[in-house]
Amino acid sequence: RAKARGRATYQFFESVLAETAYADLVLEAELAQGLTRNEFELFFQPQVEATTGQLSGAEALLRWRHPQRGLLGPDAFIFVAERHRLMLALGEWVLREAAATARRWREQKLTHGHGPMRIAVNLSRMQFHLDGFADTVRRVLDDSGAQGQWLELELTERMLMDHIEHAPATLAQLRALGLTVSVDDFGTGYTSLAHLTELPLDKLKIDQSFVARLPDDVGAQAITRAIVQMAVGLGLTVTAEGVRSAAQWQLLAGWGCQQFQGELVGAPMSAPDFEAWVKAR
Ligand code: C2E
Ligand code: MG
Ligand code: MG
Ligand code: MG
Repeated sequence: RAKARGRATYQFFESVLAETAYADLVLEAELAQGLTRNEFELFFQPQVEATTGQLSGAEALLRWRHPQRGLLGPDAFIFVAERHRLMLALGEWVLREAAATARRWREQKLTHGHGPMRIAVNLSRMQFHLDGFADTVRRVLDDSGAQGQWLELELTERMLMDHIEHAPATLAQLRALGLTVSVDDFGTGYTSLAHLTELPLDKLKIDQSFVARLPDDVGAQAITRAIVQMAVGLGLTVTAEGVRSAAQWQLLAGWGCQQFQGELVGAPMSAPDFEAWVKAR
């Protein structure tokens, strides 16, 4: 009996695994097709300066206009792209689209008063760990006629730590091209402080899980204040993500946080919506 039950359980898991694998295969094929059919799009979420409230840039967030399932966010498909190396092609598409958009905004004079709008692009580990990533970025800039100063790259702590022997050189190459380098979702990973001081970085983005617990949670207060003060002490710019209330803004600004991103400022918008939003300000 036990044996029979064991076999039934095994068969159950086997069929679940097969179904999951099949769903991933379908998604993988659809992703590849979506790239050739131009179904991907970048949304833009505004980032503003704490002291002046002025716009400083936007984060590019990937969306997929799936022919049957409608508008999909990255959580619905990125994991499959990352498993199948499709992420390299998709990631390069994101970089090219961001560079082209930055150039278009420059031509449209869509600025924030003191210089061009900077577009922040999220990288996947696969892209950053590839040999010659900085050369890819240089090629994208050359092809699109964009300047490095118009782009920012967001990496996670994990991506930096998993690649710690090569990260300093790659980051230095990217900064030499004029790009800003930031650490996304900071506080959720395990960056050693020693590494943080050694890596050529420009910015830390405080993870929204901390911001979400402000202003009331005393533990979140202590951690967030410590992160902001440490980053400022290291000469890094600090951006708070997922800011949803004026109380959160005030607390963070008081600690020295210089930039804000979140629903309080604006949600992620399609390029036309973002452009209209900037002009209406
Ligand atoms: P992230 O880089 O930390 O991006 C911030 C996420 O928080 C976005 O979700 C954004 O829509 C959401 N968000 C912003 N403000 C608020 C707020 O006030 N409240 C709440 N609840 N959420 C807010 P999204 O667009 O679903 O992206 C999820 C993640 O997918 C991103 O997290 C990033 O890690 C990844 N991602 C997005 N675009 C790309 C891309 O082009 N390439 C790669 N490799 N990853 C991407
Ligand atoms: Mg990000
Ligand atoms: Mg983040
Ligand atoms: Mg994230």
